[in-house]
Amino acid sequence: MSRVRLLVFNPVLQVLDYRLPSGMATDFGQLVIAPLGPRQVLGIVWEPERLAGTEVPDSKLRPILEVLPVPAFSKALRSLIEWTADYYVAPMNAVARMALGSMAALRGGGTTTEYRLSGLEPKRLTPQRAAAMDALHGEQASIRELAELASVSEGVLRGMLGSGILEPVTVDLDRPYLRARADYAQPELSDLQQAAADQLVSAVRQGGFTPFLLDGVTGSGKTECYFEAIAEAIRQQRQVLVLLPEIALTENFLRRFEARFGVPPLLWHSSVKQSERRRAWRAIVSGEAQVVVGARSALFMPFGALGLIVVDEAHEVSFKQDDGVRYNARDVAVIRARFEAVPVILASATPALESLQLAEAGVYTKIDLPARYGGAELPAVRVIDLRKDVPERGRWLAPPLVAELTGRLAKGEQSLLFLNRRGYAPLTLCRHCGYRFQCPNCSAWLVEHRLSKRLACHHCGHEMPTPEVCPECHEGDCLVACGPGVERIADEVRELFPNARLAVVTSDTLNSPEKIAQFVAAAEQREIDVIVGTQLVTKGYHFPELTLVGVIDADLGLEGGDLRAAERTYQQIAQVSGRAGRGEKPGEVLIQTRHPEAAVIAALAAGDRDAFYAAEAEGRKDAGAPPFGRWAAIIVSSEDEAEAREAAKAIGAMAPNLPDVVVLGPAPAPLALLRGRYRYRLLINARRSAQLQDVIRAWLGQLQFAQGVRVAVDIDPYSFV
Ligand code: ADP
Ligand code: ZN
Repeated sequence: MSRVRLLVFNPVLQVLDYRLPSGMATDFGQLVIAPLGPRQVLGIVWEPERLAGTEVPDSKLRPILEVLPVPAFSKALRSLIEWTADYYVAPMNAVARMALGSMAALRGGGTTTEYRLSGLEPKRLTPQRAAAMDALHGEQASIRELAELASVSEGVLRGMLGSGILEPVTVDLDRPYLRARADYAQPELSDLQQAAADQLVSAVRQGGFTPFLLDGVTGSGKTECYFEAIAEAIRQQRQVLVLLPEIALTENFLRRFEARFGVPPLLWHSSVKQSERRRAWRAIVSGEAQVVVGARSALFMPFGALGLIVVDEAHEVSFKQDDGVRYNARDVAVIRARFEAVPVILASATPALESLQLAEAGVYTKIDLPARYGGAELPAVRVIDLRKDVPERGRWLAPPLVAELTGRLAKGEQSLLFLNRRGYAPLTLCRHCGYRFQCPNCSAWLVEHRLSKRLACHHCGHEMPTPEVCPECHEGDCLVACGPGVERIADEVRELFPNARLAVVTSDTLNSPEKIAQFVAAAEQREIDVIVGTQLVTKGYHFPELTLVGVIDADLGLEGGDLRAAERTYQQIAQVSGRAGRGEKPGEVLIQTRHPEAAVIAALAAGDRDAFYAAEAEGRKDAGAPPFGRWAAIIVSSEDEAEAREAAKAIGAMAPNLPDVVVLGPAPAPLALLRGRYRYRLLINARRSAQLQDVIRAWLGQLQFAQGVRVAVDIDPYSFV
């Protein structure tokens, strides 16, 4: 009789014991199917002593049904899952789920059917079919995915299949990938780069856990350095995981990777189509996948032979996940490297204070690239005091910025205007009665999007057409836009420079790999004079003709109660500044602000990074904030405001009374209503010595909540809304 304990994928249950029928063999980490009531459940065989279970007598155990034909999750991955669940106070099966592909990937092998245009071009087409044909050029995917791509119903596509416009294609699910070649196109490295690369390469060759902080100014050629480490892993036949903060950056990365290694890497993120995800997942487990590039969700992939992890733009906030399992992929990447006993490289021009501190403490090996590759200079920075250089009425560009733009246009050089706000205006109100357009589901204003003629909530996605008359007083022609978004800045540029070729770059306009590629090509071929963009254009791009960066509102990020607001402002402006003057012509940055005296602005103007970090560290030390102390948040929400308030109060009433833990709140969250749920927050500030997670587990463990109440724990929170 052999008893096995499973971590099961079920929203309510986590752990169940089963019997292994004779003749069936299994191992820890193996994925299996087991009966649960009248249904079946997927589970992972776990070490019983590491998973508190139930005491069902042996005689009552039901048998496991099937051991799935995929390699078992390694000890390192299981340890990572345990660590993540423990550290972030999250259910273990929710963490383990992030290591799974689709159910279909677990069955493996075989073929699937995809569809593509057959080449048949009927003379008469319904408008829907004609539109679908346009959208589906060069595409091949399942009917559902094609329907999404073409924005038509699946029915329309089935009809097209019936009339032979679409044809089925049989796809081998496990067809192999082209092999990347370590020495396909090795660049000539500068001495500085070579020294950095040597250090990384030797760590990969030796194996073992070595965390690096690759700290190089924008344009220093960090990518080329860590490419050498990747090349070494490829030579050693070990796998590499590269994490990027945003899907939008992968396009650029793919091209550089292919130029260096001859073939593109494997992609793993939410918009990769089903059959490719299945293929990728299987190649990852088997060890065949050489280099996998993805957003944070790739972090938990079950690599069969991992040899190196790279986190590029490691300071980026988007590595922090703020729903489901609230983890920070940058931090967990380092933990994974430790369990896997492999090197990990955190690359950034503006590292998080937490990372710098770990480097200073000797935990991370710091590698510096203090100069730009090829002798390009870092741009000169000039601060524009908006209180003195006042933009014209109803305008947002101050005269000195307009003058510089004029000069760049005359010389045929490119400019970039940065404002981290999508849409036309963040607030719309009625001039007649004062009515303000607010989201019905969130405590937030609706943002006007003039291009799509809609008002939209950036938190929940609620949208409405921009009305002609005020819904409150029914006056016509009385709505006023307050404040600027990128669309409004673009309008201003158009009015000032009617002949300038303009690109607006936001997640609204660059929402597919094709559009990103088109934009990059246009910018590189100098078909764009002025780029107006959000944080999407602050990093990764290399446009040699770009010589002017204008920061429209440097104070924007300093508003709001975010603990890291100053650091984030510094990072964002330093990154966007880093887009200027990367080629032969020198760059210049103009920062518009109402607070030129603020430490962060002064440091940017002086180009004194160390001064900024020193001041920031001092402030955090005083506040007991990370990395000198610890923060956690408890977020209580319900669709019923009273229920949320009561639950938050109950939690507050049971707050632990400990010398090294301070509990603040409960208080309504800054976003008191989000997606229809009322929210309260408690903030916990603890000394580094405190066993924070244990304290929170014990505290919440004694409480029972009403059905509709959700209680989320956020360890090392980033968002304070
Ligand atoms: P970073 O990521 O540090 O900002 P990049 O890696 O993007 O810098 O490099 C900046 C630019 O310099 C890129 O266009 C890159 O292709 C180029 N570059 C860097 N190192 C080399 C090299 N050794 N040989 C040729 N080009 C290089
Ligand atoms: Zn909303």
